[in-house]
Amino acid sequence: MRAQPQASHFINGEWVEDRAGAVFDSVHPATGEVIARLHAATPSVLDRALDAARMAQPAWAALAPVARGRILHRAAEILRARNRDLSVLETLDTGKPLQETLVADAVSGADALEYFAGFAATVTGQTIPLGRDMAYTLREPLGVCAGIGAWNYPIQIACWKAAPALAFGNAMVFKPSELTPLSALALAGVLQEAGLPPGLFNVVQGQGDVGAALTTDHRVDKVSLTGSVPTGRKVYAAAGGALKAATMELGGKSPLIVFPDAELDNAVGAAMLANFYSAGQICSNGTRVFVHRDVKAAFLEKLAARTARILLGDPLDEATQMGPVASAAQMERVLSYIAKGQAEGARLVCGGARAGAAGCFIQPTVFADVRDDMVIAREEIFGPVMAVLDFEEEAEVIARANATEYGLAAGVFTRDISRAHRVVAALQAGTCWINAYNLTPVEMPFGGVKSSGVGRENGHAALEHYTRVKSVYLGLGDVDAPY
Ligand code: NDP
Repeated sequence: MRAQPQASHFINGEWVEDRAGAVFDSVHPATGEVIARLHAATPSVLDRALDAARMAQPAWAALAPVARGRILHRAAEILRARNRDLSVLETLDTGKPLQETLVADAVSGADALEYFAGFAATVTGQTIPLGRDMAYTLREPLGVCAGIGAWNYPIQIACWKAAPALAFGNAMVFKPSELTPLSALALAGVLQEAGLPPGLFNVVQGQGDVGAALTTDHRVDKVSLTGSVPTGRKVYAAAGGALKAATMELGGKSPLIVFPDAELDNAVGAAMLANFYSAGQICSNGTRVFVHRDVKAAFLEKLAARTARILLGDPLDEATQMGPVASAAQMERVLSYIAKGQAEGARLVCGGARAGAAGCFIQPTVFADVRDDMVIAREEIFGPVMAVLDFEEEAEVIARANATEYGLAAGVFTRDISRAHRVVAALQAGTCWINAYNLTPVEMPFGGVKSSGVGRENGHAALEHYTRVKSVYLGLGDVDAPY
């Protein structure tokens, strides 16, 4: 098997196998080839990982922050140096084209490691004058953080969680999605090579039950999940029941609004990126494209022409622009949404079917004349399916854009600077783009509102989610006791 890791788990600086755990395969979705065979974590594997993390964390937290940062910097350099190998691994595991993984996966993970490496040493508390006395605050790590990942950006998700956790003095036990188990193990090897002491970044494999066991374990102080809304509800409730801190990065059905004065080629390009990049498997995708009636015909004409030119094929070929979706189950799910769109009377502009007989390929698909009440306009599809809706008035489109339980992201295309800011101010979304879409640099906080999430990853905001504040009151005079 061409991507078989040394073992299924990485715990306390060692590769760990426990053959008693259920067997599962990692499959290359372009061909169906089994590329690795792993075992899910047994309770004893989880115990080892959690004990190792607990043991290692205090000494790590006691290091000077620059020393922690130095190790993360080194890890970022190694990730960049191995970018091609890591990208091939990610392409094999996820099916995303190498053209994308070379620029978007390990390198964005490296960005996160670099950013938080530098951030670590800048963290300070406050001094609070109180007259005669004073107080100060300390920023402390939380302890052991559990990270649970989705399958669309496996190494990026692992880095977005591990980099701030480690930078601020925490340990992490990470469970990748069972569909894409490989790159988190590669990351563990890289962190070790960079000098990360054993026990601080552990990887355990398995399905939801392993994630659920991590969520409620008494050795875990914080849970960070990237996944769907239904899973988020369960994990947040379980973490809340145990009074643990939690960050939830969940799904969306984000609006992308194209006003009549928009630079149309840019708006079309952004809408395509917002629906077809990673075969549409991006949480923040702008899957409800609201186009003003005055430019609808021109928009759809350009969109259909450019979509027809998308190069679908072998994701390992660097010329390929779109690969398969991540699994056969996901392909069936997406195709069933396409069928629903047709049954509900949306107009198919292009695509609409599976591409080829082998592999999990779906044609990039555009529906026009989509109405707000159609299933394809309400539910997250997580595949290459764009829904184009018409609108006429600014107030109308804002109300319709917000009429969803989700609130992850939103985009606005217009040349009118006042309108751009007015509209994003009114949109219920954690991240908004003006004349851009889906750019998520590590410097910028990322996360959702409403059902799309709780908390933020990246940027300065991550500090709030991987540290806690300790207040210290300093009495500088006599104790004033009435007895
Ligand atoms: P899932 O919600 O199915 O799974 C996410 C992770 O949670 C997986 O590792 C899964 O394990 C695990 N899990 C499942 N059930 C439980 C449970 N009860 N307790 C603890 N862990 C559990 O999401 P997908 O992997 O299908 O990813 C797609 C979803 O992720 C989409 O909705 C997408 O929008 C969202 N997403 C959000 C992002 C964001 O930042 N907001 C970014 C990327 C994706 P396993 O799958 O192995 O069974």
